[in-house]
Amino acid sequence: MQNALYMTDSYLKEFEAIVESVKDDKYIVLSQSAFYPQGGGQPSDTGSIICDGGEYPVVFAGKFEGRISHEVEKPGLKIDDKITGKIDWDRRYRLMRMHTAAHIIDAVLFNEAKALCTGNQLGLDKSRIDFSLDVLDRDKIQQYIDMTNEWVQKAVDVKIYFLPREEALKIPGIVKLASVMPPEVKELRIVEIPGIDMQADGGTQVKNTSEIGKISLVSVENKGKNNRRMYYTLD
Ligand SMILES: [Zn+2]
Repeated sequence: MQNALYMTDSYLKEFEAIVESVKDDKYIVLSQSAFYPQGGGQPSDTGSIICDGGEYPVVFAGKFEGRISHEVEKPGLKIDDKITGKIDWDRRYRLMRMHTAAHIIDAVLFNEAKALCTGNQLGLDKSRIDFSLDVLDRDKIQQYIDMTNEWVQKAVDVKIYFLPREEALKIPGIVKLASVMPPEVKELRIVEIPGIDMQADGGTQVKNTSEIGKISLVSVENKGKNNRRMYYTLD
């Protein structure tokens, strides 16, 4: 994603930019942006664009032709306007904690049960992970969550860096995900939680696993052998 500031700094809450295009008075493309556009199971950021003292609430951010498109609730922004963008930080930070938690849960599921993640949807109240597993046992899933919490408490620093596509594809485990990235992506963003997990990922993450807090299992559902489902939440 071009000029996506969250890719290098998940903690950027405010930024300056220039309006590059306006469509239908409500879809705004900026010269750069810290707004996360919905994708990869992570909901879009919300927030506001400030321009000349006016506030334009951003209700959704999505990907449009390789750029981040911001949907604003109020018309008035024009090309070349200088703006300040502000992320709704409480919402974003909770999603960051949910996201890093998902990576550790996925890794524990794979390491302990060879379960493969088949889908996920992060949410504010609770997040969902779908996975394949032969035998579904709620007590076992609770044990995996307990193990995840042990990792979280080890306070491991999360590393984010970029690797050339060819080099990244040689790393076992990230190949599956990297293969869905379009070939024009020459550098892959790697999220590494040392000792636990390493994968190509475009989402926002916390700096240290301790920021996640305590993960609780909400429910386990059985949607078929290749579609087990769990919901978890955070304190
Ligand atoms: Zn991820």
